[in-house]
Amino acid sequence: MLAAPTPEEAAAALAGRLAAQAALTDQEGGFPTEEFQWLGAAGLLTAPLSQALGGAGLLAPPQTLSMLRTLKHLGRGNLAVGRVYEGHLNALQLTQRFGQPAQVQRWAADARQGRLFGVWNTEAQDGVHLEPLPEGRFRLRGSKTFGSGAGHLTRPLITGALPDGGWQMFILPADEQLPTLDASFWKPLGMRATASFRVDLTGAEIGPQDLLGPPGAYYQQPWFSGGAIRFAAVQLGAAEAVFDETRRFLRDLGRLDDPYQKMRLGEMAMLVESGNLWLRGAADHATRPAAEADVAATIAYANLMRTAIEEICLRTLQLAERCVGARGLLRPEPFERLHRDLTHYLRQPAPDAAVADAGRFVLAHPTPAHSLWNA
Ligand SMILES: Cc1cc2nc3c(=O)[nH]c(=O)nc-3n(C[C@H](O)[C@H](O)[C@H](O)COP(=O)(O)OP(=O)(O)OC[C@H]3O[C@@H](n4cnc5c(N)ncnc54)[C@H](O)[C@@H]3O)c2cc1C
Repeated sequence: MLAAPTPEEAAAALAGRLAAQAALTDQEGGFPTEEFQWLGAAGLLTAPLSQALGGAGLLAPPQTLSMLRTLKHLGRGNLAVGRVYEGHLNALQLTQRFGQPAQVQRWAADARQGRLFGVWNTEAQDGVHLEPLPEGRFRLRGSKTFGSGAGHLTRPLITGALPDGGWQMFILPADEQLPTLDASFWKPLGMRATASFRVDLTGAEIGPQDLLGPPGAYYQQPWFSGGAIRFAAVQLGAAEAVFDETRRFLRDLGRLDDPYQKMRLGEMAMLVESGNLWLRGAADHATRPAAEADVAATIAYANLMRTAIEEICLRTLQLAERCVGARGLLRPEPFERLHRDLTHYLRQPAPDAAVADAGRFVLAHPTPAHSLWNA
């Protein structure tokens, strides 16, 4: 009997189908609903659960590189799918890390039934507050912005302020407590199909069974900042897609012999492979024995990695544009969408602070460069 494909193999096998269909959902209000059915059928929605919970244990430390590559393959197929899947995986990571045993079982059952999770933390001035009611219940007030998968996720993990200011995670049963969606918020450059709307939670009620972990758990380090390696892996997938499509485009046009095109393709190959080496480096560093105790180094390395991948993606886009020229940027060629999606998705929180943090770390640690990250 053949062994079932690993999540990484399943994601790699899906990438072509995802890419072939990506243009269909590339519209404001669009969402890759059918694609997530494919992911469910391939076992990817439960893959982040431990094996005891019926998953593939994708979040276990020995699988970190495989997890990053799984994310990369999905991002390679369709960056919007990769983004939403990363949120699903992150939420299942947080539920398994901080949930009480009965909660972990309940949310795992939800994932096994194909329910989509995600993490909605970003907010504007009118952020989410939890107002106490009797019996440990809370009424919610306020909104989240950039709620990816709004209207499609039935189990979003959401953060909000308690009366004493504590930052509390909870999982909203969004199929029972329906938030108000404001799709007019989402008029983006790219990533249209993520449906990252403003979500008004005012009036929804949650109970003690919905609260996840103690206040402040969401920002526990190194998990919070260290998690940047996941979105960077998704981003790298799009750089790989740009590389593959550029080479295909030049081949179709019979433009393979031009020395300048060769030079650009060489540089792009170097960039993409550097990104893959960063995936290895990040997985090795995040799973070294001291990773949890040595918080500052773990965060600094993740910050270096996300910064490097951002640069790799930006440079890859620029080279690809020069390779394919103006006619390559016309639909139905995929470059126009890939460019919009990746440019927008590269905008992650506090990019300057991330590099400055790595700078602060290396200034505070006079260890020679050759062993700076080996401790
Ligand atoms: C497609 C997409 C989907 C998303 N989905 C989700 C989701 O599902 N859930 C969720 O919670 N979030 C989501 N987000 C939001 C995301 O996590 C980030 O919060 C958001 O992309 C960062 O926005 P920003 O670039 O405006 O950030 P900022 O951090 O404001 O950065 C913008 C610029 O301002 C600088 N800057 C930052 N702070 C300061 C300061 N205090 N003073 C001066 N300059 C500063 C930065 O260095 C940067 O140059 C999504 C974003 C995108 C693009």
